[in-house]
Amino acid sequence: MKMDEDKTVESKEVEDNSGKYSNEDKADVLEGETCPICGNKTLILMETQREIPYFGKVYLFSMGCNSCKYHKADVEAVDTHEPCKYTFNVKTEEDLKVRVVKSSWGKVIIPRVMTIEPGEASNGYITNIEGILTRVKNMLESVRDTEEDEDKIQKAKNQIKKINKVLFGQEEITITIEDPSGNSAIISDKAEKKKL
Ligand SMILES: [Zn+2]
Repeated sequence: MKMDEDKTVESKEVEDNSGKYSNEDKADVLEGETCPICGNKTLILMETQREIPYFGKVYLFSMGCNSCKYHKADVEAVDTHEPCKYTFNVKTEEDLKVRVVKSSWGKVIIPRVMTIEPGEASNGYITNIEGILTRVKNMLESVRDTEEDEDKIQKAKNQIKKINKVLFGQEEITITIEDPSGNSAIISDKAEKKKL
């Protein structure tokens, strides 16, 4: 299954930088910019920096339009990183807390469950393994609730069950992130990192 994440989970954000910043982040905010989608001057641009341990400093960007609800967020490392592929086996509840940086160029692959495609429509964010799995679960729930093909609905239901078991530490799953821009990472000693 290939999914374009932003068409399905707009209202169910689980990440901590999708347009919302904590008080410690001193975000630069520009209001009244022209929206690339609807053309109204109701776009709010935000930019801030955050230090990610074992990865480095990153820029966080987001833009959101109050008229048409267009939203885009991304994350970019301040220092250049090599194109990379991270593979991580999620086995325990502790693994769910592992930090993940996913840029809009990052392709998230969960074999036999879902691939989150990178690109223009994709967002970048800082989250953890649990956040990635929750996002995948939300997308599967959207398939379950909107799809008309019985087989696809049943498949989504089975995959939701699997994700729930992983979230309770009862089942293992492998998550791979490939990013030709080098702006994504799974930050754990247990993550296997390869050049892309
Ligand atoms: Zn707009």
